[in-house]
Amino acid sequence: MDPHRIVIVGGGAGGLPLATQLGRSLGRRGLAHITLIDRQRRHFWKPHLHEIAAGSMDLDRHAISYMAQAHRHGFHDRIGEMTGLDRQQRVVHLAPHRDEQGRPVTPQREIPYDSLVLAVGSVTHDFGTPGAREHAIALESLDDAERFHRRLVNACIRAQANPDARGAHHLQVVIIGAGATGVELAAELRHTSRDLARYGLECLDHEQTLGIHLVEAAARVLPGLPERFSAAALARLRALRVEVHTHSRVAEVLPQGVRLADGRLIPAELVVWAAGIKGPDYFVQGLDGLSLNRQQQLLIKPELHALDDPHVFALGDCAACPWLGGPMEWVPPRAQAAHQQAQHLVVNLRRRLQGQALLPWRYRDFGSLVSLGRSSTVGQLMGSLGGGKLWLSGGLAWLMYRGLYQSHQMALHGPWRAAIEWLAQALTRWNRPRIKLH
Ligand SMILES: Cc1cc2nc3c(=O)[nH]c(=O)nc-3n(C[C@H](O)[C@H](O)[C@H](O)COP(=O)(O)OP(=O)(O)OC[C@H]3O[C@@H](n4cnc5c(N)ncnc54)[C@H](O)[C@@H]3O)c2cc1C
Repeated sequence: MDPHRIVIVGGGAGGLPLATQLGRSLGRRGLAHITLIDRQRRHFWKPHLHEIAAGSMDLDRHAISYMAQAHRHGFHDRIGEMTGLDRQQRVVHLAPHRDEQGRPVTPQREIPYDSLVLAVGSVTHDFGTPGAREHAIALESLDDAERFHRRLVNACIRAQANPDARGAHHLQVVIIGAGATGVELAAELRHTSRDLARYGLECLDHEQTLGIHLVEAAARVLPGLPERFSAAALARLRALRVEVHTHSRVAEVLPQGVRLADGRLIPAELVVWAAGIKGPDYFVQGLDGLSLNRQQQLLIKPELHALDDPHVFALGDCAACPWLGGPMEWVPPRAQAAHQQAQHLVVNLRRRLQGQALLPWRYRDFGSLVSLGRSSTVGQLMGSLGGGKLWLSGGLAWLMYRGLYQSHQMALHGPWRAAIEWLAQALTRWNRPRIKLH
């Protein structure tokens, strides 16, 4: 009999650890055939995307090739972009894949499954704001983050080469949305501007020369977190000379800046949209009738399979999973949730293979950590880790923040290789420029 086919679509914060662990436990022993599909060739941990955008992280040291990971851990990898599925035939539809020159690499394909796991993450929700799609960059993928960085460095070089064009600010960046992504990006950008000045871009030698604006419709920054976070983050952002505009709804994004609902225009060379997420648009028509919530996320049961199909599982940002006993209806879209769901699915998929009943999953909220630039983080640990609620800030919180990434690395490489990777990354950091200069 052919082994059970488990197909995982999306090798991100949840999908890649899942494929790796299933590959090690089932794939290598021939107990199941594990396939991971991703539209990219390499994995990058999304919570660090703002550091790629700011240029403060070396991508070559942190990206992981899916092909190498699959070879090492007993699963198969396929490059391709999912566009929909046929639940009757149990196949996933993949769009044709083309290279940068538009030449075909793979044709349109159908990949059959016995168990399917959707782990495709989320896309930015611009709430239909005019101009957002055309003129703002959304930090959804590595390509977006690298594009932003290139435009930032180009804008700096342009400002330096055109001294006559200098105004009170040589360069303005507007970040829309003061959730964790927006706040972390604003803080990181300030450090980048200091580093760029150190490497000779004199136009950035005073902090006033890079204007960073953070625009938020709610009354405070980090509106989804307890008030203490907002106060600490606001104080730090002010110290970093980030201009914070709360109670400010964006009416329109223009080629030359952002117009607020009260009529004010904030001129900007670069605009980043970091407000809100939703499930991918093809979920609406492409999931063969599976039920979604209002944010286009797939409705799943605590056992992590779709409400209307026991053969289709989902995890992470693309799934709406009930938060059993939690303060909100749904589990929040966080890397720690995707990670925990991946761990649980390793158990539940094994049980499915053995014909056993699936176990419900319960989210364990270990708290939140928000990075405010180098060595500066605020956070609150919850539950058994924090002995209730433990407030953290400064270096200790920063170390815990870095620890989240280390635990992801451990799930992918095991403890020894993760330690070697960490050492190699530390040495490279010491040996190379602090930021990407191109
Ligand atoms: C700047 C930033 C900072 C963040 N900081 C934190 C933090 O500090 N802590 C925290 O807990 N969370 C943080 N998050 C949120 C966290 O990154 C997400 O919750 C987490 O990555 C979700 O994991 P996932 O596996 O669902 O999706 P992702 O990690 O987004 O992975 C999705 C994968 O699916 C692939 N894919 C997408 N569509 C398709 C398709 N159609 N076909 C094939 N493949 C596809 C993508 O290429 C990607 O590899 C942050 C997010 C951002 C953007």
